[in-house]
Amino acid sequence: MDTASFRNDFPALDRTVYGKPLIYLDNTATSQTPSCVVEAIEHAYYHTKANVHRGVHALSQEMTLLQEKARERVRGFINASHTSEIIFTRGTTEAINLVASSYGRLIPDDAEIIVSVMEHHADIVPWQLIGRGVTLRVIPMDDSGVLDLDAYRKLFNEKTALVAVTHVSNVLGTVNPVEELVREAHGHGVPVLIDGAQAVSHRPVDVQAIGCDFYVFSSHKMYGPTGVGVLYGRRNLLEKMPPYQGGGEMIGHVSFEHTTFAELPFKFEAGTPDFIDIAAFHRAIDYVSSVGYGNIEVHERELLEYATGRMTEEIPGVRIFGNAPGKDAIISFLVGDSHPYDVGMLLDKQGIAVRTGHHCAQPLMHRLGVEGVVRASFAMYNTRDEVDAFITALRRTAAMLL
Ligand code: PMP
Repeated sequence: MDTASFRNDFPALDRTVYGKPLIYLDNTATSQTPSCVVEAIEHAYYHTKANVHRGVHALSQEMTLLQEKARERVRGFINASHTSEIIFTRGTTEAINLVASSYGRLIPDDAEIIVSVMEHHADIVPWQLIGRGVTLRVIPMDDSGVLDLDAYRKLFNEKTALVAVTHVSNVLGTVNPVEELVREAHGHGVPVLIDGAQAVSHRPVDVQAIGCDFYVFSSHKMYGPTGVGVLYGRRNLLEKMPPYQGGGEMIGHVSFEHTTFAELPFKFEAGTPDFIDIAAFHRAIDYVSSVGYGNIEVHERELLEYATGRMTEEIPGVRIFGNAPGKDAIISFLVGDSHPYDVGMLLDKQGIAVRTGHHCAQPLMHRLGVEGVVRASFAMYNTRDEVDAFITALRRTAAMLL
């Protein structure tokens, strides 16, 4: 893939920090945004800003159309059956909270929810907030970061109300066998939520092929604006679920005695949505699609293998966490006994942006027996030259610390 042809679309990749070229390897936290997306935001603010779904006037209708076209684009992007199954939220976190608050009200006291040991806190804490004795059962993994499916099968019982598992681990890069996980859960009559926050920027997602009941993701991690997320929900389930928040937009009719609710998807979209960013998210989906997932997957795999190989061979005392077959381009590591923060800080001074800490996955850190790790994560615009610069900086860092 010719990254040079589109790197210019990302001005941040051209900047320096501390007088050194920035090498951005924190894509798992958030990706950079191409200029066409920023231009779409600017254009909407200057020319089409009007509140959606409320006005008879032309501007409002134009903005509404842009938002609803984005919904249709998202539907096609993940191959959902109906646009009514696409609910815009502020992000993955809000989408999961929506399901926990709403679907959570439909499940009995003392119900059990199955999650995996590699979940982000966003796929742990919302379920705990349901209260009423609802508890988590946890799918374990082996040392390479592969989920133990035999153990998973044994977690089901008559109390199991939901399975909520990440598609791709934000720490280990493991790509979980979501189709298989769903098949097993459906065999027990249990619905499944897939956290796709780390999947959608790396691979095509087809919610009907996966068979899941909910799929959630964030725009900002896939080259789109901040403040936009998606909840895909199977229509028959969404229809049974009570509203999440109350307010404008989500109602049918309101009186002081009784309120009826709007049709899907609006029942779950109270208040003014982030319509400008939603419209711009459309451009981000077009952008990723124009690069092509086939190209992205091959390119990122090459970077992953190249970086992993060089780290293992050249960095003394390096320990990489997660080597599941087919993992995504996320490398979490430690250098000897050095504190991850020290490694991250020394890399930063050399222009390399990585993330350090528990990565919102404290139970996983506990499983790995560490307080935190350093994480280098790659996107479609990263290059072999950047990997070289990263390795040079890491070698220097290791020499300073060990
Ligand atoms: N799940 C996973 C696997 C993630 O990596 C993240 C972001 N780090 C989230 C959920 C939360 O996403 P957001 O902060 O965009 O809501």
